[in-house]
Amino acid sequence: MKLFDLLLPMRCAVCGGGGAQLCASCRERLPRLEPPLCDRCGAPTAWPVARCRECSGRRLAFTSARAAVAYDDDVRRLVRAWKERGLRRLAPEAAAAVIGVVPRPCCGALAFVPPDRARNLERGHHPAERLARELGERWSLPVLSLVRRTRPVPRQRGLALAERRRNVVGAFAPATQVPPAVALVDDVYTSGATATAAASALRKGGARRVEVVTFARVVR
Ligand SMILES: [Zn+2]
Ligand SMILES: [Zn+2]
Repeated sequence: MKLFDLLLPMRCAVCGGGGAQLCASCRERLPRLEPPLCDRCGAPTAWPVARCRECSGRRLAFTSARAAVAYDDDVRRLVRAWKERGLRRLAPEAAAAVIGVVPRPCCGALAFVPPDRARNLERGHHPAERLARELGERWSLPVLSLVRRTRPVPRQRGLALAERRRNVVGAFAPATQVPPAVALVDDVYTSGATATAAASALRKGGARRVEVVTFARVVR
């Protein structure tokens, strides 16, 4: 834990109020993603569907994707505080939100999207792995490093979907023998490009079923 994390008075990452890194009323107001959802990509829909406008016709390497909350302005503030300002107490908050919304995946192990080495060193921690470890404890599932990066990936932020996909193709490889059913954990599902690239690495390594679990999801 960084020193400033211990010494500074705690302020809510969303509203700035004192006392906690996420205050009770902001926690209460998190925009939880409840059904009906697209069965495949987890996008909120008017009624349950097998594929939705966002994912139909796309080749997705994962069986399903589920997220706890919509990535709105408040959640963006929260995720930035967690990822970029290194407020680690937010990892258990994110895990609690996931547990409250996302059913426990049918899998033998949790994997996580591996950190980009340069960015990880810069920040000194890795939110996706922390979230996977918090979820592993609560769901009683082992957390394994099953995916590795083959090369650094340029920032995805601000890129169109086609560019995002190109950006991450072949960027991941299986790190070891992969169990048949795995859940892949990441902090935010944006376009599904990273999830699909990492899931296809897991499948190359032997997984037949990959469920993606994230804290937040961009809702279009
Ligand atoms: Zn608050
Ligand atoms: Zn969909």
